[in-house]
Amino acid sequence: MSDFDFDLFVIGAGSGGVRAARMSAMRGARVAIAEEYRVGGTCVIRGCVPKKFLVYASAYGKAFKEAEGYGWSVDGASHDWTTLCDNLHAEVDRLSGIYWKNLSNSGVEIYSQRAEIEDAHTIRLQDDDRTITAKYILIATGGQPARMGIPGEELTLDSNDVFLMKERPRHVVINGGGYIACEFAQVFAGLGSQVCQIYRGDTVLRGFDDDIRAHVHGELKRSGVRVMTHANTIKVSKDGTGQRVVETDTGDTIKADAVIQAVGRNPYTKGLGLENAGVELDKAGAVKVDEYSKTSVDSIYAVGDVTNRVNLTPVAIREGAAFAATVFGETPTAFDHADIASAVFTQPPVGVVGLTEAEARRKFGQIDIYKANFRPMKNMLSGSESRMVVKLVVRQDSEQVVGVHMAGDDSPEIIQAVGIAVKAGLTKAQFDATCAVHPTVAEELVTLKEKWTPPEIS
Ligand code: FAD
Repeated sequence: MSDFDFDLFVIGAGSGGVRAARMSAMRGARVAIAEEYRVGGTCVIRGCVPKKFLVYASAYGKAFKEAEGYGWSVDGASHDWTTLCDNLHAEVDRLSGIYWKNLSNSGVEIYSQRAEIEDAHTIRLQDDDRTITAKYILIATGGQPARMGIPGEELTLDSNDVFLMKERPRHVVINGGGYIACEFAQVFAGLGSQVCQIYRGDTVLRGFDDDIRAHVHGELKRSGVRVMTHANTIKVSKDGTGQRVVETDTGDTIKADAVIQAVGRNPYTKGLGLENAGVELDKAGAVKVDEYSKTSVDSIYAVGDVTNRVNLTPVAIREGAAFAATVFGETPTAFDHADIASAVFTQPPVGVVGLTEAEARRKFGQIDIYKANFRPMKNMLSGSESRMVVKLVVRQDSEQVVGVHMAGDDSPEIIQAVGIAVKAGLTKAQFDATCAVHPTVAEELVTLKEKWTPPEIS
């Protein structure tokens, strides 16, 4: 019999924690998990899943209008925020229930309360005020919305609050230029709100390929979002009618019903007791781990957003599974973080995999670019002026396709499949040898013939 209460104690029942707990239990480990909010974590409760429902909801508005070009009359369409939220939350509840059931069916003991670390093998359960010991501890506490730290902060909302809004704001200010800020901006614009997005940089989606950034910026404006760049909110106050008054460092004053901060996320380690066990953090406050997700303490591992590697749900899941294989499957498994495909659910959406043009130039020097920017067939009758961008980044020496970047309808679905080709290291010639599916937008991926040459600078 082991000297510990459990073989594994997982802190945090989100994407990474749940997968690690279940896979470890299925390999015969005695597992417990603590969750301080709701089982399912950010993705299910206040991230990817409810966000995508909001995106679907807002896209109907545009679709109704565009359907007219195809002969439909959709008169008097209106939207009810309460119906959307009721249905969305019912689905989130259902999914959280499934996560709970899957955990308990795997034999995982669930503690619905906060847990903190006392030492390398000891956890303190906050509500029960008792300790539990485990041979291994897995930190899977995720991230938390960052805050700007400005006067009037308490009058603003973060991404968690957006899903709990009782009414849709008619005027909304969104701070931030990352993917969450851009997605929310178009959600509210699509539902009929007036949206002002304030961003300190020169264009949105820092870290993405420049062509995609410019495209999304243009599409945000096309969908009616007022995008203010090189600007920072410096103060928020409330006027006599309860409206928020936003002041920026550019001297602008904007009134809104709601002010949302979507200015990034920080690893959630506050108060976790990591110092009690000697777990080291990096400069950004993330838990430092090796390729097997082991921290500076042999018995403590960490997966997901709290390690700030690639902060996406499928990554947290894969890191959790790799942890279980390494520690309880006797198969050291390091998840490979290269060439992870990902999406931005703007409208139209983005799908990317591999290196941006700038990254590839830095890494390989000589590269070839193939790209197309066109109005998709569907928009010819719908009247939408929205365009599609498709871009391949190719190594000149080996012809390997090292990056694919797309913006336009269905890009997230397409990039999932293209991700296989990029991950497999296929060449441009192999893309070209693949016969097109016609008529689709994705056929551009296998029919791009002309190398793009940068315009001459006179
Ligand atoms: P989380 O899912 O955050 O889970 C951590 C859990 O730990 C939480 O439930 C928390 O309550 C709990 N916890 C924390 N501390 C304690 C403690 N001391 N005791 C007990 N419990 C604790 N990713 C995508 O791949 N695609 C998307 O489209 C996407 N959209 C997103 C949209 C939004 C608005 C947000 C905020 C995120 C989005 N993400 C998306 C990111 C994705 O949600 C995260 O990468 C993913 O949830 C990380 O999983 P995790 O297991 O690391 O942490």
